[in-house]
Amino acid sequence: MSRIAYVAGHYLPHAQAAVHIEDRGFQFADGVYEVIAVVGGRLVDEERHMVRLHRSLSELRMAPPMGDTALRVVLREVIRRNGVVNGIVYLQVTRGAAPRDHAFPKSARPTLVVTSRGSKPPNQRLVREGCSVITIPEIRWARCDIKSVALLGNVLGKQLAREAGAYEAWFVDHDGNVTEGTSTNAWIVTADGEVVTRKTDNAILSGVTRLAVLDLIHREGYRLSERPFSVDEAKRAREAFLTSTTAAVMPVVRIDDAAVANGNPGSLTEKLRVAYLGHAAATA
Ligand code: PMP
Repeated sequence: MSRIAYVAGHYLPHAQAAVHIEDRGFQFADGVYEVIAVVGGRLVDEERHMVRLHRSLSELRMAPPMGDTALRVVLREVIRRNGVVNGIVYLQVTRGAAPRDHAFPKSARPTLVVTSRGSKPPNQRLVREGCSVITIPEIRWARCDIKSVALLGNVLGKQLAREAGAYEAWFVDHDGNVTEGTSTNAWIVTADGEVVTRKTDNAILSGVTRLAVLDLIHREGYRLSERPFSVDEAKRAREAFLTSTTAAVMPVVRIDDAAVANGNPGSLTEKLRVAYLGHAAATA
């Protein structure tokens, strides 16, 4: 079955789906996106993704491409046309096509692209045994809270992780604190059992998975502190993990050359992972 994309008003096979060469997404990375998990043919945490999409759009003073009801219909139609039951749906909105000029065009219409593909759950060996992360200097811009398609820092970081044989790279700011991963949020559990993740500010993306896990932590009554943590503190932690739409809750067992605790996934991480998968299946 050929994959079908929605591009600016049309459902087309990928080979024919294209945007204009002067689309501002292509020339300036002037656009935003969302990746939403599909479980059992339904969207996980759709509401929160829509809220974040609108926030990203409004921070960039970009018009929504269509009303929310229509957008939700398009998302479902792309999922349906691709026969996706478990996987992701990707949506991208740019400021549209216009003669190249940095300032906003007066009359461009936003470009909406939606694709969807099936995917297997995250690598089960990594889930069972935990993954490794490397730490790298934070080189991204000061508005990482906006889910923009300008992802060069993230791309370079993920490539360094691949080359080091690691699953993810954690960015480290000028104070020595971890901001987030290249496509995931970062967490630790301290020796005395407190779950720690950086509070949302301009330095990180407010992950939808992060919010869902925070809900679960509150529900289960675990101790939580939303504050920065350093690489040193992470290396001394009892547990570490990362969260994202595609990785769900993934244990981290190695940070650079240091094993986290005894090098095995932590028990609280495992509880949160199972609880999160339950949440994803239930809310979808
Ligand atoms: N941080 C960054 C930089 C990301 O790209 C992502 C994935 N979109 C996340 C965190 C996790 O966000 P979510 O849980 O919404 O997938």
